[in-house]
Amino acid sequence: MVSVKSSTDLAKMREAGRISGRALKLAGESIKAGMTTKALDKIIHDYIVGCGAKPSFLGYGGFPGSACISINDEVIHGIPSHKRRIAEGDIVSVDVGACINGFHGDTCATFAVGKVSDEAKKLLEVTEASLYEGIKAAQVGARIGDVSHAVEEYCVSRGYGVVRQYCGHGIGRELHESPEVPNYGKAGHGVRLVSGMTFCVEPMINVKGEGIRVLNDGWTVVTKDGSLSAHFEHAIAITPNGPVILTEP
Ligand code: MG
Repeated sequence: MVSVKSSTDLAKMREAGRISGRALKLAGESIKAGMTTKALDKIIHDYIVGCGAKPSFLGYGGFPGSACISINDEVIHGIPSHKRRIAEGDIVSVDVGACINGFHGDTCATFAVGKVSDEAKKLLEVTEASLYEGIKAAQVGARIGDVSHAVEEYCVSRGYGVVRQYCGHGIGRELHESPEVPNYGKAGHGVRLVSGMTFCVEPMINVKGEGIRVLNDGWTVVTKDGSLSAHFEHAIAITPNGPVILTEP
């Protein structure tokens, strides 16, 4: 069942989204070569808690961090660790959620650390642009498949692999709600979008193949072929005036 939010709900979601977006922005400003992923996670954790919110991911399904921090060929769900150091030339995906007043925010970006390869730079540009292509398609009366197709078309036409096993999702009182928002699909198919729906669009895009596997830690998802992967995400609300991004800082 897809829930529709009232204007009061949306104001609360905007607050949760703003905190999530600001935590992500802070992560981007703080990230540097030599720091551990655990140190970056602590900066995010302390910011969210300092806002009076709760990190949505901490303890979710037993996840031990406040952010998922995934480096290079890691797609999603990287576990913050004292042992993992960020290096010059890495691309680092930071996925952050915050909960306040009973509602969640959820947003992600992939950051370049220092000077990265042209291949990495292009991947980040294409993945971020595909997020906005998806958001642009999220109009009242359109369908989820229109959003999915817009993301897929943008990336596949440029030769990239679109991860299929993980996808975007409704968001609100729960971190993950209906509907699922795949990054591939048929235009004109799926749930019809109505005003007040809120969901996350989150392309996970690989330089080469779409295949992924999960590491033995039970969390970290990596590309099967070892190619680089990027991930950008916003939570949005469907409104009569077009999609509104809830996770803008
Ligand atoms: Mg998400």
